[in-house]
Amino acid sequence: MITGRFAPSPSGYLHPGNLLCALLAWLSCRSRGGRFIVRIEDLDAGRCPKKYALQALADLDWLGLSSDEDPLWQSQRADVYGAALEQLSRSGHVYPCFCSRAELHASFAPNLGDEVPVYSGKCRGLTPEEIAAKSALRRPALRLAVPDEAVAFTDALQGPYERNLARQCGDFILRRSDGIYAYQLAVVCDDAASGVTEVVRGRDILPSTPQQIYLCRLLGFPVPAYAHIPLLTDSSGRRLSKRDGDISLSALSRRFSREEIVGMLACAAGLLREPRPVTPEQLLPAFSWEKVPKDEARLPAGFIA
Ligand code: GLU
Repeated sequence: MITGRFAPSPSGYLHPGNLLCALLAWLSCRSRGGRFIVRIEDLDAGRCPKKYALQALADLDWLGLSSDEDPLWQSQRADVYGAALEQLSRSGHVYPCFCSRAELHASFAPNLGDEVPVYSGKCRGLTPEEIAAKSALRRPALRLAVPDEAVAFTDALQGPYERNLARQCGDFILRRSDGIYAYQLAVVCDDAASGVTEVVRGRDILPSTPQQIYLCRLLGFPVPAYAHIPLLTDSSGRRLSKRDGDISLSALSRRFSREEIVGMLACAAGLLREPRPVTPEQLLPAFSWEKVPKDEARLPAGFIA
């Protein structure tokens, strides 16, 4: 069974880039007769007031992209993530890290560009005595010790992609020092629990994917297929931002019908030549990843007021 999903982090209202992601995730699985589910990634519940999540679900329903199942809420699944962490700890892959934010900043090389900062591994070799002494002073974060090994996969849109875990990702955090589980751990647990077979999401998350594949392997989870979609821009190729005013769905819906909004997103995704009102169902027969641009999805003129 093909299962796709859309997993927003509702720290605000869904923006057009999220809607494009939801539409493509829905089209990709539905065009092959699969199931579509929505998950609320509110791990950091303090930053994700419930009203945004409820509005996101209402927005998806309004557009015709409803979840086939009751959504999972990450804020309610700490026991699941705790069990996975326990499994990784028992197999010796986890260590406590006592580095402060300032220490981490100081150890990262400047001007990394697209690269993510790689943790120095400072706390990896602590002795049990050092761990006990440091634990009395502060609660540690927990990190996964990664090997000097490349993880490669082929993205449906971005093509072959590979990263060396030790050199390009570093030992990454599984649980923060404040007790909040890391997105990297939660996402693989939840996709496995829901039987997700394909992950469609923004290209900004591409660099994390090898870490997630590695976690799947350690935990014995199947590795899903991936499609990382481009950034949505305005008609001149400019990144959407606050200066575009209110581009929440409720603001857009005062200017456009839902079919017009779907049509404009489909046009940005290369699925329509010209924007015209359509429903998600009407896009199904012609959907193909080959039509979707890999670097930039441009909205047609007139979408942004
Ligand atoms: N929650 C992430 C976001 O809203 C997406 C994570 C994912 O799809 O794996 O950007």
